[in-house]
Amino acid sequence: MTVLVIGAGLSGAVIARQLAEAGHRVTVCEARAHVAGNCHTERDADTGVMVHVYGPHIFHTDDAQVWDYVHRFAHFQPYKNRVKTTSRGQVFSLPINLHTINQFYGRTLRPDEARAFIEAQADTSITDPQTFEEQALRFVGPDLYEAFFRGYTVKQWGMSPADLPAAILKRLPVRFNYDDNYFAHRFQGMPEHGYTAMVEAMLDHPAITVHLSRPVTPDAVGDYAHTFYAGPLDGWFGHRLGRLGYRTLDFERFTYAGDYQGCAVMNYGEEDVPYTRITEHKHFSPWEDHDGSVLYREYSRACEAEDIPYYPIRQVREKALLRDYVALAEQAQGVTFVGRLGTYRYLDMDVTIREALDTAAVFLKGGSAPPFVHAPL
Ligand code: UDP
Repeated sequence: MTVLVIGAGLSGAVIARQLAEAGHRVTVCEARAHVAGNCHTERDADTGVMVHVYGPHIFHTDDAQVWDYVHRFAHFQPYKNRVKTTSRGQVFSLPINLHTINQFYGRTLRPDEARAFIEAQADTSITDPQTFEEQALRFVGPDLYEAFFRGYTVKQWGMSPADLPAAILKRLPVRFNYDDNYFAHRFQGMPEHGYTAMVEAMLDHPAITVHLSRPVTPDAVGDYAHTFYAGPLDGWFGHRLGRLGYRTLDFERFTYAGDYQGCAVMNYGEEDVPYTRITEHKHFSPWEDHDGSVLYREYSRACEAEDIPYYPIRQVREKALLRDYVALAEQAQGVTFVGRLGTYRYLDMDVTIREALDTAAVFLKGGSAPPFVHAPL
């Protein structure tokens, strides 16, 4: 009997592919008019630039199997994410590295000196940082925190860093050398023809049927051997307990004849600049050559019912509600909740693929799968 996959993002596409290769028939229903979810890419007709329609996605991983897996479906070009940030009238390098520290303080410190210098700024009375703010004050001190993190984070999350978990800042390293690679992972690159072409290749299998622009509600699921649901967890239950909170993004698109900012990502660390960052999409494909340019000014705000959910908030209120939805979901039969939206977690692309591979393996081993292979809590 056929398996149903709801959602044609990375989770859905990988699960569909794995099941199809193992001999199952798979129907994939996607509410949007395209596959690839929020990593969807599209070439701009006027400039020829490959646009990351829902904001920038850079593929990076330490997982050699995941790296091999994506290479089955796309040719990758080398790409290193080198982010800049504008603050106090200057442009600095991110993540905080020796160049950032020396420029910020007008010094010429060597690595050991910089380490000692920053340690002297840090609040060492914080032994076990719980919040974003404590983590920042403990590891970079108040000056760098104010210039690069506080304002940006207030804009990104709509709340004080004193109310956010330390885990969010732990995503960013602090380096006492001149390595300005944003990610510390072994493998990093960009699919040459975009993420949508990669996901289309995953779904291009004789046992997979894809229906675009086809939202599916649980009552309309029909007769399938199993359902993998990659939509929002609360959406499956008609939001009957309330809505799980997300941040959404607004992109103010503009074009430029030439090179607007000389890099792909320019962050704006200060609170009085209303956007968090500007992305210049042609720089995500440095192997291509385009005269014109497409840019996004990115704004973050609370996600309303009709908006696209991006970042799960996972504060105390959301976690309590999440617990209730998880309890409901655990009673469900014949459905597995997967991915960023299905498990309400902040997942990078490589983790999403890893989990989808593992989920498919569980199903293939036992002929069924529990509501959660990866627990939301
Ligand atoms: N962040 C910041 N300033 C920056 C970049 C990031 O304060 O210039 C904070 C912000 O709170 C963000 C977190 O660090 O949510 C993690 O950054 P990352 O770049 O991983 O965020 P992503 O855009 O991938 O969600």
